[in-house]
Amino acid sequence: MEKRIYNFSPGPAMLPLPALEEAQRDLLALPGTGMSILEISHRSKKFEEIISTAESNLRTLLKIPADYSVLFLQGGAQLQFAMIPMNFLRNSGKAADYVQAGTWGKTAAAQAKTQGAINIAWDGKDGNYNRMPKTGELKLTTGAAYLHITSNETIQGIQIQSEPQANAPLVCDASSDFLCRPVDVSKYGIYYACAQKNAGPAGVTVVIIRNDLVERSPDDLPNMLSYKVMAKEKSLYNTPPTFCIYMLKLVTDWLLNTIGGLDRMAEINRQKAHMLYEALDQSAGFYQGHAEKESRSLMNVAFRLAKPELDEPFLKQAREQGLAELKGHRSVGGCRASIYNAMPIEGVRLLRDFMNDFAKRNG
Ligand SMILES: *Cc1c(COP(=O)(O)O)cnc(C)c1O
Repeated sequence: MEKRIYNFSPGPAMLPLPALEEAQRDLLALPGTGMSILEISHRSKKFEEIISTAESNLRTLLKIPADYSVLFLQGGAQLQFAMIPMNFLRNSGKAADYVQAGTWGKTAAAQAKTQGAINIAWDGKDGNYNRMPKTGELKLTTGAAYLHITSNETIQGIQIQSEPQANAPLVCDASSDFLCRPVDVSKYGIYYACAQKNAGPAGVTVVIIRNDLVERSPDDLPNMLSYKVMAKEKSLYNTPPTFCIYMLKLVTDWLLNTIGGLDRMAEINRQKAHMLYEALDQSAGFYQGHAEKESRSLMNVAFRLAKPELDEPFLKQAREQGLAELKGHRSVGGCRASIYNAMPIEGVRLLRDFMNDFAKRNG
């Protein structure tokens, strides 16, 4: 078999090895069925068991209150950028508040604008999107339809440390820090994440939504865009992405049974992130982090080399050591190490040692 390397991609990203191994072992025939997960009906008893375990794993990990629905939808996080305003902004007579702390928040706001009035509650442009807003900085609309935030800006590598206070329902794109630490779901009206960063392969998006909002979903929407229809049909209105939901079940099995839950996962994630931020801080300016310290992301470490002409040798030599996909997003430049849940601590240690060594050789 080809040797696995450390993949620091922002997404799709590494999956836990035990989840991949179980999928590989059972690919030709799921135990008790004689059929592949790729072949079974989404209405079969076996799939019913898989999707309900995926849901109950998420409910256990995130302590999701009983008055919330857990939906498995398609169209990625970006369909939610449209579906949320279609359900709760269009024809509401209200405006929705959006925080633009980085690229994804800006994209979400631009999509909402196609459906109704929005207000930019905060924009991080002045600081080149290097931090999350502080308490009290948001300019909120009274009677807003909702407040939309992005808990982790994947490209800029900044993450919220606590939820903002708002009277309107809080809606959060948690695509790139889903399941990385415990979160109080009861503070949110909608908490959603595409799977391909931290929860599974590309193709499924988890939407955790309070039931009173589900009920407010208007009746004149096409069924595929209605939270009410999707919740009523328990995500089986049409054929769901069965393989992705199966993988999400295996990843959440791993989080629960091998890692031991989100408190432990958060500890490991803090340890991993600390190693890299320490390497930046101790490099005497050789490496420069993008994020302000109090907004540093546990999941995406964005940094530049003070001498940009060293970018290419840095990336090339890293790749030779099995440290892949470290190039930063074109809009920020430099480098970015995405260290989601499934990135082993050994991979981060190897990267840290490589960074220290590279700085010593080139400083
Ligand atoms: C990756 C990402 C998205 C885009 O997700 P798609 O599934 O490709 O639509 C949106 N928001 C955040 C925060 C992301 O990290």
